Amino acid sequence: MKVPLLDLKAQFAPIRGEVLAAIERVADSQLFILGTEVEALEREVAEMLGVAHAVGVSSGTDALLAALMALDVGPGDEVVTTTYSFFATAGSIVRLGARPVLVDIDPVTFNLDPEQTLAACTPRTKALLPVHLYGQAADLDPIVLGARDRGIAVVEDAAQAIGTRYKGREVGGIGTLGCFSFFPSKNLGAFGDGGLVTTNDAALAEKVRLLRGHGMKPKYYHHMVGGNFRLDALQAAVLRVKLPHLAAWTEARRANAARYRALFAELDPEGRVGLPHEVASGYHIYNQFVVRVPGRDRVREALAADGIGTEIYYPLPFHRQPCFASLGADPGAFPEAERAAAETLALPIYGELTAGEQRYVVERLVAHVV
Ligand SMILES: *Cc1c(COP(=O)(O)O)cnc(C)c1O
Repeated sequence: MKVPLLDLKAQFAPIRGEVLAAIERVADSQLFILGTEVEALEREVAEMLGVAHAVGVSSGTDALLAALMALDVGPGDEVVTTTYSFFATAGSIVRLGARPVLVDIDPVTFNLDPEQTLAACTPRTKALLPVHLYGQAADLDPIVLGARDRGIAVVEDAAQAIGTRYKGREVGGIGTLGCFSFFPSKNLGAFGDGGLVTTNDAALAEKVRLLRGHGMKPKYYHHMVGGNFRLDALQAAVLRVKLPHLAAWTEARRANAARYRALFAELDPEGRVGLPHEVASGYHIYNQFVVRVPGRDRVREALAADGIGTEIYYPLPFHRQPCFASLGADPGAFPEAERAAAETLALPIYGELTAGEQRYVVERLVAHVV
């Protein structure tokens, strides 16, 4: 049996006709950049997330960059964030000449520790940048309150978290700005790169819109130095076909997560494999189902030989990345992130997985753990 980490073909098959019709519609219009498709997507996503403004951009990375630019983050500023995330979280801060101040994760949720986040604030701190890792919300209440006390902003990295809820509220509209990604492996994936910035602040939304197109308004009059962070009409058209299916796809991922738990309870009664913790008051969308495995690297190789795809998110925390050596972090500074980087393994969790495939994954995994 072969079980890939992600099989996008299974999701595409039932919507193929609709997607091709949407692509044809854009082809016939010959209007490729922004325009009505992007505007419609922005309205539809904003409504789904219950947020006032959504601005389509070229990627999740550019969503982070535009959000931080809208807050005027630059040289001399600090942004507090987790050391354990996808590179873009810290990379976007550094690209603006600001300094990422890293904090460790909560070992239970893998999300940044709110106490350490607030303790890391200085008079130079311009924003806090929590990441909703794997599709589960970071503990936002203390972060948002702490930011409010200090008069600073919160940028939510919700790239892995479209539809995630925190205490009943959709993420992305809880902080000052939210950043989403439509990279194909995210729960709502485009046919290429895409992203979105959300906010309830009309002035910030307008600023992100300007920054998205070189700060230009009207044509060839530039108010600020932005970039080309525009979303393509083709991507928006494809995403609009997928959007109405997202809730059901997420439910299928959650059902698979529940089935993994039942299978591990049956096949690993001693609990040698550490299962992800689901915070009861939230809604986890399981962009990834990440377990802790003793002897992770050896087990991963054995699973690959069994035809089972897995991934390590992430093998090296930011403070250990060669390009961030200048931050001068002590290699042992963040023990929980180090431990997660050494132990974690993402298993296939996409909605179309079958019960038989999941049983095979758990049987093989448990067999390799000694
Ligand atoms: C995917 C991702 C990004 C970047 O999104 P792209 O669309 O790939 O640029 C940023 N942060 C996190 C946590 C991500 O998972």
